[in-house]
Amino acid sequence: RVEAGRPYSVHIGTDVFGLFNSEYKELLDSADRIVVIADEKVASLHLGHLLPYLKSYKVDVFNVPSGEQAKSIETFMDCHSFLLAAGCSRKTLILAFGGGATGDLAGFVASTFMRGIPYIQVPTTILAHDSAVGGKTAINHALGKNMIGTFYQPEAVLYDIQLLKTLPDHEWRSGMAEVIKHAFISNEQWLDELLAVESFQAMSDPELMGHLEKGIAVKAAIVEEDEFENGMRKFLNFGHTLAHALEAHLGYGNITHGEAVVLGMAYALHLSSNDRLNPFLEWGYHHGYPFEKVVEISFGELLPYMKKDKKASKGDLNFVMLRQIAQPQMEKIEEQAAANSYEELRLKIG
Ligand code: NAD
Ligand code: ZN
Repeated sequence: RVEAGRPYSVHIGTDVFGLFNSEYKELLDSADRIVVIADEKVASLHLGHLLPYLKSYKVDVFNVPSGEQAKSIETFMDCHSFLLAAGCSRKTLILAFGGGATGDLAGFVASTFMRGIPYIQVPTTILAHDSAVGGKTAINHALGKNMIGTFYQPEAVLYDIQLLKTLPDHEWRSGMAEVIKHAFISNEQWLDELLAVESFQAMSDPELMGHLEKGIAVKAAIVEEDEFENGMRKFLNFGHTLAHALEAHLGYGNITHGEAVVLGMAYALHLSSNDRLNPFLEWGYHHGYPFEKVVEISFGELLPYMKKDKKASKGDLNFVMLRQIAQPQMEKIEEQAAANSYEELRLKIG
């Protein structure tokens, strides 16, 4: 259960859609219609699993482009056009069916349609254990990712881990990056368990569920303390200063968010002289994270993006440092020290 803003429950398991017909029956019954805003790829793979649970309701499905492309002003307007043309009202319920991108878009649509209608998140990626908690919604502006958005809580999150089985390898890597990030900033024993995972895809359902539940709990605890991002919530950006710069430099879509975060965490561990860097690099190589990007890209190419980071103040370089596991701290780092550390990491990796 997430208590920030309006409290809501996150249900995770292998058979959670039954809740549409039990715990959430009253909510569904009170809606004049249900609109599923679906990632088109997820729709083609998994709508057949979702729709039977909604068969006693008036349901429309609106497909949006898969992944990040969904977070455009055009798709946002297309959603509103669809809702208006279909005669939706303030009593319409939206279901967001897809990964973090669809969730961010559909949440933003729900928060703005007729000044706000209810929505339920039905996440389908590992990374969505992160994005579905915290109430942030957003679309992208040409001048910056996630620049247009709201804080808006869903009614509930129904997370069926069976749907994760169709994720491609790089999306497993992307999602597990945020899971291990949550371990780094909160729990050393859990970190050790994750570092020992041989294959993401071969994890048993209970093992995967355990990791996702822990990740959700860490995110929820931090968000509850700091709903509007004045303090603790910054720690969730461990690894993200460099990650955002890598994503911007390479172009969104050319590296997944989580893969960039793993590179960023390696850098933050190096900056922090943390002795977990070596085991973490081994873990990363083993699972196929693209460390070669750090070798290919110079510090100078990334610096302008790091200075523009929305968490940066006055052009300083701010990093979430981790001198000890589970003890994140915000620190300002001199440009020269940051450059030296980056070069050392490059040599180590290359
Ligand atoms: P995504 O939604 O872009 O999905 C990634 C890819 O996986 C897409 O191609 C999608 O079609 C495909 N896919 C989704 N589910 C699938 C399934 N079950 N089987 C096969 N393919 C599937 O990516 P994501 O990593 O879930 O989310 C990234 C987005 O989340 C970014 O836009 C990021 O800004 C946002 N985000 C938001 C928050 C937040 O707090 N709101 C936090 C972290 C990230
Ligand atoms: Zn992230």
